[in-house]
Amino acid sequence: MYALSDVRKVFGNDAPALDGVSLTVGRGEHVAFIGPSGAGKTTLFRLLNLTLRPTAGVLLIDGVDVAALDGAGLRRARRRIGTIYQQHNLVGRLRVVHNVLAGNLGRWSLSTAVASLMRPRAADAARALEQVGIPEKLWARTDELSGGQQQRVAIARVLLQDPDVILADEPVSSVDPSLALTIVTLLRDLSHQSRKTLLVNLHSVELALGYFPRIVGVREGRIAFDLAPDEVTPELLGALYAGHSDATRQLDRIHDGIGSYGTACRPLPGFSK
Ligand code: ADP
Repeated sequence: MYALSDVRKVFGNDAPALDGVSLTVGRGEHVAFIGPSGAGKTTLFRLLNLTLRPTAGVLLIDGVDVAALDGAGLRRARRRIGTIYQQHNLVGRLRVVHNVLAGNLGRWSLSTAVASLMRPRAADAARALEQVGIPEKLWARTDELSGGQQQRVAIARVLLQDPDVILADEPVSSVDPSLALTIVTLLRDLSHQSRKTLLVNLHSVELALGYFPRIVGVREGRIAFDLAPDEVTPELLGALYAGHSDATRQLDRIHDGIGSYGTACRPLPGFSK
């Protein structure tokens, strides 16, 4: 699906946000990205969803160099990629049905989009809401939903878009632990059922190691490791988060056996008391 070779991204005169990043992701793979804040994970996701271009290096999608895509080619490629953000990117004063149908905007003409606002294709949105477990919210105003329900709406919008790959950038950072687990599991199961590639940028090491078969650690713009969860040692995590006290506290809690997700989370390798 993706092949990155020696990718570098520089903003202005700053130090590179990403440097020397080489990575391949196969179709249907599920990958969690972890690392301290400022490591470059969001920048990497913005390269992968084609809203940014590499400063140097090569990014291929299904063998096509994105640098060679023209406007129409870029739009077509972007349509195959669905992004879920921490802040949902929903329009609060619109009804849920309209926010879900916005998943179609990439392929609709302007007139179809306007017609949809007047007379929404509610059945399509209802099906997507059914999949995320809140069918009763179809006609609710979006800003009257809880944070977790809004994140479900954002997932429903991506399901309607029906992309080949879902990029979820910190999708659960602003919800409580039990909801975080529910949403990550939902994303994983829905992606699995529809054979979508799923890349998730996660603040929680515990969720990443417990629920994803491949873990990519990012630090200071570089890939620090790319391993199966049972190969990710406490030492590697300590080095990944060195100097970041919030994350180190999180690791200490896991080490002491006090995970946030209770028994629902698999025991983590190397972390038993
Ligand atoms: P993470 O998602 O791991 O927290 P980011 O990708 O957001 O990290 O940031 C990596 C680095 O790139 C940071 O130093 C950040 O300040 C910088 N950066 C990200 N986006 C921009 C931008 N649009 N303009 C300038 N600097 C940016």
